Amino acid sequence: MHPEGFAMSARTGLLGVIGHPVGHSLSPRLHNAALRSQGVDLVYLAFDVEPVQLSAAVSGLRALGVRGANVTVPHKEAVVAMLDQLDPMAARVGAVNTIVNDSGRLIGHNTDVHGFAAALRCLLPDGARGLRCVVAGAGGAARAVVAALIADGAARITICNRTLERAVELCRVAQNWGPPGCAAVPQEESRTLLADADLLVNATAVGLSLDVKDFPLPVDTLHSGLVVVDVVYGTEPTALVQAARQRGARAMDGVEMLLMQAGCSYRLWTGLEPPIGVMRESMELEEG
Ligand code: NAP
Repeated sequence: MHPEGFAMSARTGLLGVIGHPVGHSLSPRLHNAALRSQGVDLVYLAFDVEPVQLSAAVSGLRALGVRGANVTVPHKEAVVAMLDQLDPMAARVGAVNTIVNDSGRLIGHNTDVHGFAAALRCLLPDGARGLRCVVAGAGGAARAVVAALIADGAARITICNRTLERAVELCRVAQNWGPPGCAAVPQEESRTLLADADLLVNATAVGLSLDVKDFPLPVDTLHSGLVVVDVVYGTEPTALVQAARQRGARAMDGVEMLLMQAGCSYRLWTGLEPPIGVMRESMELEEG
């Protein structure tokens, strides 16, 4: 794992990701590759933590002096109440994906917002400015996506979620984030909505399945005027991305967002400019 020249010692610090499940996470690979390339004396591990153990795990970060951690599904919202301080974006979004241990004080950040906004620019140089957007999902990732779309100046944001009440709640919270405001629509009504949308973002946990029929919105309405971003990622393009491309839409999966949010977390923990090229290469090695 560690190339020659890196030997762990009693001074080696610890970073990690807390999630459940977490075995599929690419974060250990890309962060360790970055740390080794810059000679940083930290290692990054994955911790599978069941929801009932989250509070104990967060206390453990403090007790063991862990330098920092990523937080992933399903803990991003629950962890908020367990931290000592939130940065303004994490407080606004109500979800944390990065913890920094600042001399025993655990500070929560949300780098998914910037990660999504930066990734979107691979397909749309101006981001979501002036676009009619549909967001599928209303969990932690959807919160970050909606915050980024509002910051970009989207013209319209409609949220579809399996549990409508959760979409309504996200719309209510997002009212405080600035115009244009959001509307919650039942999944069954998404057909007409997609027909005149410019941007569709899948921020549900559905997507790793290779069968596009599992996607909660009607994929037969995808069209060539649409840009599709799936925040889900895997070792090959997700079923939604494949279906969108077949219908002439420009589409990308969540790999770029993963890289961009990881870069922001790395900067927070190390104070160094993240070696994005090294991180990207480490993921390609994994995929190969
Ligand atoms: P979450 O808070 O648990 O929310 C999950 C969302 O998916 C909810 O809206 C949920 O709907 C919906 N959902 C789950 N199963 C569904 C199904 N069978 N049919 C329809 N909707 C379903 O999770 P999250 O943190 O938002 O993460 C969502 C996904 O984004 C995960 O796959 C995660 O890996 C990915 N993600 C990627 C990045 C990246 O860097 N690329 C960053 C963040 C997250 P209900 O409200 O009805 O339960």
